[in-house]
Amino acid sequence: MSYSLHPSIDNGLQAGDPNFAGGKLYCHCASDKVEVEIKGNVLHNHACGCSKCWKPSGALFSIVAVVPTDNLKVTANGNKLKIVDESAAIQRHACSQCGVHLFGRIVTDHAFKGLDFVHVELSDSKGWQEPQFAAFVSSIIEQGFSPDKAPEVREKLNKLGLSTYDALSPPLMDALATYNAKKSGKLSA
Ligand SMILES: [Zn+2]
Ligand SMILES: [Zn+2]
Repeated sequence: MSYSLHPSIDNGLQAGDPNFAGGKLYCHCASDKVEVEIKGNVLHNHACGCSKCWKPSGALFSIVAVVPTDNLKVTANGNKLKIVDESAAIQRHACSQCGVHLFGRIVTDHAFKGLDFVHVELSDSKGWQEPQFAAFVSSIIEQGFSPDKAPEVREKLNKLGLSTYDALSPPLMDALATYNAKKSGKLSA
């Protein structure tokens, strides 16, 4: 059985440009594309195996990164955007016609509030930060992938230089835990 991790990493990673100035993301509609402009590069770009992040059909993983909310602007056809799940912590804004997710925004009190989640494969510019790690790998099994093949998927990701986790990466998990500890008073703010 052959499978695609994600078309943008199946043949290796393309290193990003540290001086990259940003670019535009477009949905998959043939015309009247939703257009989103991003100032500067993305942070924490990674492969994500969860069931919520948008991925191209046939891919096991999503490639998803964050940008400061202030650096993201909808520049065309924003009227086509619809929030996938209003009750989710991340409000994913999808094109109501083609289904592509243009950005996900955190609106609740959260460690990552102020960041938007984006998919740089929707851009025609090159230089975006390459994926840094793979998150929520075991979640692909919940979506029907054979557990017998999961070790092989981890090995493929490791060969690409991506450490694999079944949550987020340790620094991001630490950031979430620190935020929660400060909120509850277990750590001083
Ligand atoms: Zn569209
Ligand atoms: Zn995800």
